[in-house]
Amino acid sequence: MPSKREPPRSPARRLHRSCKEVIALLTEFMEGDLSATAARDLERHLDICPPCKGFLDNLKTARAATRKLRVKMPDASLASLRARLAPTRPGKPRRRR
Ligand SMILES: [Zn+2]
Repeated sequence: MPSKREPPRSPARRLHRSCKEVIALLTEFMEGDLSATAARDLERHLDICPPCKGFLDNLKTARAATRKLRVKMPDASLASLRARLAPTRPGKPRRRR
């Protein structure tokens, strides 16, 4: 039975985890939330699956960008927000630390 429809070696198929699963787990993987076994499983998949690896790289980049944003956000905008929200109470001077 000659079946020519066999996909050209898809190494991921031989693993327990499918790309879909891997991608679903990547975030946890990055956070270090996966068990050692699961993480190793994932790494093995990434080793042989460039698309998933690329996806992980994208995630990392996106995450790094998000982090920068978060770090940049705080004080200035918080201060101006507080200034806006702060009720003006005549006679009661605001305490400062
Ligand atoms: Zn994959």
